[in-house]
Parts: sequence; C-alpha cells; structure tokens
Amino acid sequence: MNLLFELLRQPSISAQQIGVDKCAQILKRQLLDYDIKATIYETKGSPIVYGEIINPKNTKTILIYGHYDVQPPEPIEAWETPPFEPSIRNGKIYARGVGDNKGQMLAHVFAIKTLRDLQIDFSVNVKFLFDGEEESSSHSLPEFIKEHQELLVADVLYNADGPLDSTGRPIVYLGNRGMLYVELTAIGATQDNHSGNKGNIVPNPAWKLINVLQSMRAGTDGEVLIEGFYDDVRPVTIEDIRHLQEQPFDLQETGRVIGYEALDMSGEEYYEKLTLTPTFNISGLSSGYSGTGQKTVIPSEDKVKIDIRLVADQDPDDIYRKLVAHIQQVDPSLDIVRVGASKPTRTSMELESVRQIISSVHDAHELQPIVLPAIGATFPGYLFQELLGTLSLLIPYANADEDNHAPNENMDVELFFKGIETTCHVILNIGK
Ligand SMILES: [Zn+2]
Repeated sequence: MNLLFELLRQPSISAQQIGVDKCAQILKRQLLDYDIKATIYETKGSPIVYGEIINPKNTKTILIYGHYDVQPPEPIEAWETPPFEPSIRNGKIYARGVGDNKGQMLAHVFAIKTLRDLQIDFSVNVKFLFDGEEESSSHSLPEFIKEHQELLVADVLYNADGPLDSTGRPIVYLGNRGMLYVELTAIGATQDNHSGNKGNIVPNPAWKLINVLQSMRAGTDGEVLIEGFYDDVRPVTIEDIRHLQEQPFDLQETGRVIGYEALDMSGEEYYEKLTLTPTFNISGLSSGYSGTGQKTVIPSEDKVKIDIRLVADQDPDDIYRKLVAHIQQVDPSLDIVRVGASKPTRTSMELESVRQIISSVHDAHELQPIVLPAIGATFPGYLFQELLGTLSLLIPYANADEDNHAPNENMDVELFFKGIETTCHVILNIGK
C-alpha cells in the first residue's frame, strides 16, 4: 500500500501540467524497485513510462496499458479529505486518481510482485505502457506507438480502467466505440441586433442550426439520416443477440444509477444500444441570451457541438465526409470544424487469449463476468490494432461508485486486491 500512497501523494494533473514529470520519475523508480526494467520516454506532452519483463523463451506477450495522470481535483472544498493526501475510510481509499487510474495501474505491478514473492513462474512476456496524458486525450500516444512498434509488439493489449457493474459483477469489454467530434457555427449579421428594431430584417442563425440538426436525425427513434451513415456498421448476428440476452440486467437499478427512472427496455436492447449502435449526440448548444429575465436580441453567431459515437466497422474519416456532404446540401453557409476522431474496435470472443482472460476474471471474482462486445466509451485501442495487430480488451477493476473525475474519488480496498488477483490469473493463464 505504501507504493500506491506514494504515487497518490504526487499530483499529476496533465490538463495543467502539474507534477506529471515528478510522478513519472516515482513510477519508474517503483518499477525498478520491483526488478522490472523501466524507461522514461519523453514526448511532446507528458512522458511515457515503459516497463518490461522479457524472457526470450516465452512465445506470448501481454502489453498492459494504464495511465498515471489524473483529472484536476476541483472543487477542492467538496473533498472530505484533501485530494492528494490518501486516506482509508469505510473500506475505501480516497484520493484523486486512485480509481482512475493509479490504483488499477499499480494492481498489475503488484501482481508481478505477488507472483515473484510466491515464486510462481510465469511464461508470458509482460510489457507496461503507462501514459501520462490519458486525461488529456493521449495526444502523444499515436506518434509514440508509430515510433516504437517493435518495442510494443504484443498479442494482447490489456487495460484495467473504469468501474465494475453496479451490482459488483466484473465486466469484460471486447472493444470500444469510436468517436467523431464536430462543431458547427452559424453566422447571421456581423453583430447582435435588437429583435424589435431589426426583427424580420436580419436572419437569426439559431434557425439554421435547428434546421440542419433536424435534417440529420429522426425525432421519432433517433435514426441518423445522413446518407450512408450505417453502411459500415457490422451486422448484428443471431449469436450476438443471444449473447446479449444472456447478460444480467437490472432495469430498476440501472435507471436509479443513471438518474433516469423512466428507463424502459430489455437487457438485450440496453446492451445493443450501448455497444453495437452508433449515437448522434448534441453535447453543447449555444445561442443568444440564456441569463435570467428577458433580453430581446437576435444573436449574430450560434454554435453546436456534436459527438458521434461509432461502432465497428465505421470509420470516422468516412463519416466526416458524409456529414460534410449532408450539411453542404442542407446549408452551405455553415462552418464545420472537425475537433477529434477515434476509431472503434471489436475483438472476437472466439480467440484463445480472449477466452483465457474471461476465465481469469471469473477465477479472481468467483463470478461469471458480463462480457460485452464493446465499451460505450472511447479508447485509442485501434492504434494498437492497426499498427501492431494487437487485440485490445478492457477490464475494469474499480467500484461502480469510484467517483472518478469528481470530488472524493475512491477505490474499494477489496476490489483493489481483487484487481491484483485478476492480473495474476491473466498472466498465468495467458502463459499456459
Ligand atoms: Zn479518467
């Protein structure tokens, strides 16, 4: 626990570049202390900490990804104990970054220590890639992977991040959704105008946005109306459906956790919408005056931010081209900015390493894990898949109420130890 607390005491806020270098140094020293060969690679952003245990006799390699940077701790006054002074209460460790991701990341390192202390041999090469700017979109990671392909060659990319199911059941995600993020701007006059004195004279750009938004998504069922949008969505098979039907689902509990008790759908529909279906979300819409009382104004400029979550095998470049073509047809006066893009991944459940990992999680928790085709969120797993041919899996180790990114972030002590156990099983099973 001392090692974890040492790492938690060191702030490493990538968004503000606070303490990141120092934290990388501590992490490197910790790996070396455990007899793991470790190197720091400088990037344009935060350093990457790399470690490895290689035996040329081994035929398989697992690449473990984690991140040592954390979200800003604000608002500080909402924390019961200071964010960078870890403390244990009610069976949980409280500190910024304990769940996301320092605790989950170090669980892998402790697994190596555990196996060695128990003198249990393992016959798999283990590589660690610890990112220092995951919370800031891992900007340096693509270039690092491109430049170090040989170093990073592996059979499986293993990432422990995020929470277990709210009932405490472990989850194995076989991939992730991708994302395309765009921002549209509509311009009316070059200045704001009085809505009486200039009403009906200057156009209001809000209507342009409403018009184009309505043309892109059906109001009834949310179907995306951009031509060709669904062309590359991998068809859902009968086996996929059967598999989703088998996963446990508690409608009321799920509705309660997300604060939407009107939720009404079957488990199969829930998982299909979350893992096999793309989204089209308005994540920000700004126009005119939104303060208290009235202000009668015709705004000169309005913006909308849209995030589109993509599923296998949609390609963000292709979707962006189709989106631009659609908008240019509806309203060529709109300005379109592509803010970010990331591809989806999806690994087959039939692969040997995948089966080994699923049974490892089962062994550690003594519970059948929920196995889902993808996590709804986004992770740059595609970089490893495309450049290195590595399949990527995500297995969360933290509690459902870890409150990551929020005040009083925490990690259940028992789950922290379960995480160590899980990694031990994974390393032993993959080496078999
Ligand atoms: Zn995070």
